[in-house]
Amino acid sequence: MTVVEQNFALSEQAQEFLSRDVHHLFIDGQRVPAASGKTLTTTTPSTGEILARFAAGGEADVDRAVLAARKAFKGPWSTWTPYERQGLLTRIAQVLDERFEELIQIEALDMGAPISRLRNSKPALMKMLAFFAGQATNISGETLMNGIPGNVATMTLKAPVGVVGGIIPWNGPLGGQFWIIGAVLASGCTTVLKPASEASLSVLRVAEILHEAGVPAGVINVVTGPGRDAGNALAAHPDVDRIAFTGSTETGRRIIEASTTNIKKLQLELGGKSADIICADADLDKAVPGAAMGVFANSGQICFAGTRVLVQRSIVDEFTTRLLDFMKTQRVGHSLDDDATMGPVISQRQLDTVLSYIDIGKNEGAELLHGGQRLGDELGNGYYVQPTVFGGVTNQMRIAREEIFGPVLSILPFDDIDEAIAIANDSDFGLGGAVWSQSLSTALRVVHGVHTGTMWVNCYGYIDPLVGFSGTKMSGYGYKGTTAHMDNYLYTKSVYMQL
Ligand code: NAD
Repeated sequence: MTVVEQNFALSEQAQEFLSRDVHHLFIDGQRVPAASGKTLTTTTPSTGEILARFAAGGEADVDRAVLAARKAFKGPWSTWTPYERQGLLTRIAQVLDERFEELIQIEALDMGAPISRLRNSKPALMKMLAFFAGQATNISGETLMNGIPGNVATMTLKAPVGVVGGIIPWNGPLGGQFWIIGAVLASGCTTVLKPASEASLSVLRVAEILHEAGVPAGVINVVTGPGRDAGNALAAHPDVDRIAFTGSTETGRRIIEASTTNIKKLQLELGGKSADIICADADLDKAVPGAAMGVFANSGQICFAGTRVLVQRSIVDEFTTRLLDFMKTQRVGHSLDDDATMGPVISQRQLDTVLSYIDIGKNEGAELLHGGQRLGDELGNGYYVQPTVFGGVTNQMRIAREEIFGPVLSILPFDDIDEAIAIANDSDFGLGGAVWSQSLSTALRVVHGVHTGTMWVNCYGYIDPLVGFSGTKMSGYGYKGTTAHMDNYLYTKSVYMQL
């Protein structure tokens, strides 16, 4: 136990959960071992120690879970009224409000996000649940005119698609899973969730809590296990109607291939390499911390991180000096350390990837201005890398083209707005992006010019389900948030009625 862990009191419920010998699958309202009996372990990224053992689910388990989800979809759940589903989502919000501390403790230990950051995420989760509770009573079709001779009435109806496979990444499963769970419960679908092996625990715990809160057996099932087994089996399963996937572009491609079995519709939120454009007239008091935390929040493990920071050449020196000053205010530490603003990265593998990109950057001729090393001493066993800043980066360098998914910020100078837009667009990805300028017309010109799914102006990273976000190009498709999100969980039926 580290000094931080000794001083940090885990809630009784988190202790009880974490002390289980094996975390089983959650199928049809029951905790069940994997059919193979095999297990995997997960480590605490803050210390590198084994945290828990969990079931290594495979094809047979996915079959079982999909069967349970299909049975539940056809069962009494299908007769719940919109008001009843709304009431369930409201009750879930209350229960999660009460159990939040326990859940963020599990998440902090399993995936390494600083506890302060997780605590601050509570309003966003509550907002998401309120949003989906609203959506439960907001599903509607249209009455339509037609040109059919005689007396024919026509309309469209929206109906739940059925069983949704939810494949979840490791970089924020506690909150991220509710994009799927919320829409499933609001629409009347059922789901089989497949969390990432690096961080499955909060998904398993949430499924149990929601079942206790009144979600019927079989409506939410969780199959943990390797992506190539459990994930692939879910994506290929002939009785799964849709897949909601968040993860890397590479895995997204495999899921597209697997989904051809029964022509599943997909919602894909993939990788990014977003451009954060700092114009010469930006308010640097806001732009510097905004751009920094647009990268370093969650140790850079955010899909829409603004890792290419494009700075107008006349202010590069001032911006850089201020950025390096800001870096001194950041504290990297154990995820349970209340004062830590940044935690470790998720795994040894991710640490190796990030460090190898730092070497690539140096070899490509970028100037290492800050960080660049693995942290040692009392953090030496965890997967910590110093927040890293490169200057003088060009958009041809690999560190500007490939998603690193770690705390590495690159400064790319530009001369005028057209050049900034051209650099921003010279990317395979199109997920996030921002512009900082005191001129609204400059900001709007950039907003219109950059080919990306989401743009922020004089801020970075706000997400509200009422507004939503999405990707374009190789960052995926399928809008998240608004009624467009719900449409991923519904199909439209056209109705012709001869009167
Ligand atoms: P990943 O693609 O390796 O894994 C994501 C999930 O897919 C995991 O549950 C994994 O087990 C599963 N998986 C792996 N191989 C599979 C296969 N062949 N078939 C089916 N499922 C499979 O991604 P990751 O490393 O967990 O997360 C990091 C990536 O996710 C980054 O690229 C990041 O940009 C992206 N991401 C995107 C968003 C977004 O909203 N766009 C959000 C978070 C993360």
